[in-house]
Amino acid sequence: MNNYFDYAASTPVTQHVLEAMKPWENENFANASSAHQAGRTSSQAIQRARELIADKIGALPSEIIFTSGASEANNLALKGVAFKHLDNKGHIITSKIEHKCILNTCAFLESIGFEVTYLSPDQDGQISPSSLEVAIQSNTILISIHHVNNELGTIQPIEEFGAIAFEHDIPFHTDAAQSFCKCDIDVDDMDIDMLSLSGHKIYGPKGVGALYVRDARDSKLVPLIHGGGQEAGLRGGTSPTPLIVGLAAAVEHYPTEPSSDEQRFLSAIKEFECKRNGSKKVVPTTWSVTFHSDEDVKRFTSEHPWLISQGSACNALSNVASHVLTALGMTEEVARRTYRISLPPYHINGK
Ligand SMILES: *Cc1c(COP(=O)(O)O)cnc(C)c1O
Repeated sequence: MNNYFDYAASTPVTQHVLEAMKPWENENFANASSAHQAGRTSSQAIQRARELIADKIGALPSEIIFTSGASEANNLALKGVAFKHLDNKGHIITSKIEHKCILNTCAFLESIGFEVTYLSPDQDGQISPSSLEVAIQSNTILISIHHVNNELGTIQPIEEFGAIAFEHDIPFHTDAAQSFCKCDIDVDDMDIDMLSLSGHKIYGPKGVGALYVRDARDSKLVPLIHGGGQEAGLRGGTSPTPLIVGLAAAVEHYPTEPSSDEQRFLSAIKEFECKRNGSKKVVPTTWSVTFHSDEDVKRFTSEHPWLISQGSACNALSNVASHVLTALGMTEEVARRTYRISLPPYHINGK
């Protein structure tokens, strides 16, 4: 698909990943929980995947909990902590520009009695550490702020959020679906207690992701899916060996160089009057572009009939201005001229 410029919504599975997954779909199909030899073969493959992913973020293999994706990982982090506090409820801090799966989980938690503070970004899409500091209350039970924004590509100062959370002894969770592999992450250096990641944003399969949980077994996180004790008892269900192996293969083969699409995009966009939003601190592969006029939009979309998004893929079907763009102070009219163009992701050096 050479007109596809929506990689922040999903990426294709690469050949490496496909090859790595194949044997686990049929030849070695045994349940990783089975005690026999074939079961052990599956569980060893999962263990190798766990080690590789843990290593990528400076975590221990036992701290990686496989889930169906970042949405589930985010749900597990937020509800898993909140459900420990059902008696007295408590206060959660997040931001206005999180992915919908965080915002809707927070709305649900509010509906059952939790209190939530939504931090506002500045005009450049940055959430300030000082706004986090002042939002902390004596009953704050969790801070959850994403790393790289899926609509803007902005990079949040998560190591500063982590340091503040650590100082106040509050667990810090970050949704890293848009930064895992792209940016360097070290959960210890950055004081991250929980981190969500997704397979299909990094050339891995859809339907798999993970939640890193510091000291998972001692975290007393309440599981969303009770089952046969898989994933340290935090996520029941037969482990999807092919998906987990595919996720690890995607991490192992994640590209370190931009694709030629990046150059194609950069030369194309030069020809238009437009403004890049959130460009103060941003990844090179996600562009939120506001065109100067409706004519510019028309010309762009006719000269470059690319598959792109207005806002994120999740907002696209609802036809209202994205919550991220309105949080930046954008009017509906300006948001209508704003598109997200996202390029094949790769590892960017530094943080
Ligand atoms: C894609 C995405 C998600 C959802 O991930 P799934 O694995 O599709 O559930 C969550 N957060 C962010 C920032 C994302 O970009």
